[in-house]
Amino acid sequence: MVTFLAGGTGTPKLLAGAGEVFDPTETTVVANTGDDVELGGHLVCPDVDTVLFSEGGVLDTDRWWGIDGDTTETDDELHRLADAAGLDAGPRYLPDHAQTTGRDIARWRRFSGVAEFMEIGDRDRAVHITRTSLLDEGHTLTEVTRTLADAFGLDVSLLPMSDDPVATLVHTDEGTMHFQEYWVHRRAEPQVRDVEFRGADDAHLTDAVADALSDPVVVGPSNPVTSIGPMLALDGFADALEATPVVAVSPFVEDTVFSGPAADLMRGVGYDASTAGVADAYPFADAFVLDDADGTDLDCPVVRTDTRIDGPDDAARVARAVEAALAEVT
Ligand code: GDP
Repeated sequence: MVTFLAGGTGTPKLLAGAGEVFDPTETTVVANTGDDVELGGHLVCPDVDTVLFSEGGVLDTDRWWGIDGDTTETDDELHRLADAAGLDAGPRYLPDHAQTTGRDIARWRRFSGVAEFMEIGDRDRAVHITRTSLLDEGHTLTEVTRTLADAFGLDVSLLPMSDDPVATLVHTDEGTMHFQEYWVHRRAEPQVRDVEFRGADDAHLTDAVADALSDPVVVGPSNPVTSIGPMLALDGFADALEATPVVAVSPFVEDTVFSGPAADLMRGVGYDASTAGVADAYPFADAFVLDDADGTDLDCPVVRTDTRIDGPDDAARVARAVEAALAEVT
């Protein structure tokens, strides 16, 4: 058995070829939910969904989110309607009092659906409606995710990191905003001062996640701050990682990031934006997989390979390096 920790890009890419090395029926994926938003009343779980769609074989791999070939008629109409009604496009983050009412899972991540600021495809939206409706029927996010994983035919077990809300809020020079506003709407332009995981103090590890963390853990190439950070903010998560073998794949080649805002976020919370900074952020890691071109000197076993993942063959190569690194620490 092996457990992968996933954000929305690096680990799903790795998983796309990891089945060559790790039996999918013995693989658990714990997905970050700090990025989740409730948009127009529907809970969107971007990192859970990318794994759902990728492992289900329907992911739009050009954008690395959403369903391949999806239409956007509802999204288009929401924009047309807002425009015709003279409503500002937003993102329309709801006022503080509205953030703590209604569904607990929506706390501090609740946006109006007027001119929705994240483009949600029509088929994608069906997932969010089903998820939210099952939550309203009384199921936990863990149960709902299992139901959706069955519907998409997943072989791996997919778990949200918690059934409780943890909202990733970015404190910037232009004020505090939800991570999705910072990333999707502002394209990581505001300067990061700090990152807060609101709700983490009251959020719990689920039994399923606690179980999964007793197996060897692979931290796939991830944003250490906004994908792994929310997990580490949960009481007991880091302790569980200390107690089990952990291999991490760097999302950097020395100080160059493959994609996304990881460098700005790392600097914003006081880490070096580099593989060395990732190692500082992951004191529980027992071994690392680094790129051939990454000469960072680490105080633990390192397996090097070409860590760029552009398809299943690359993913299988990196997965073999992960297997070799795990062999050194188990
Ligand atoms: P999210 O999309 O923000 O949820 O991002 P993730 O947590 O999945 O992390 C994205 C990280 O993966 C970025 O910091 C990238 O540098 C890294 N990444 C993206 N593609 C690759 C790749 O092909 N190889 C490696 N090693 N890292 C990658």
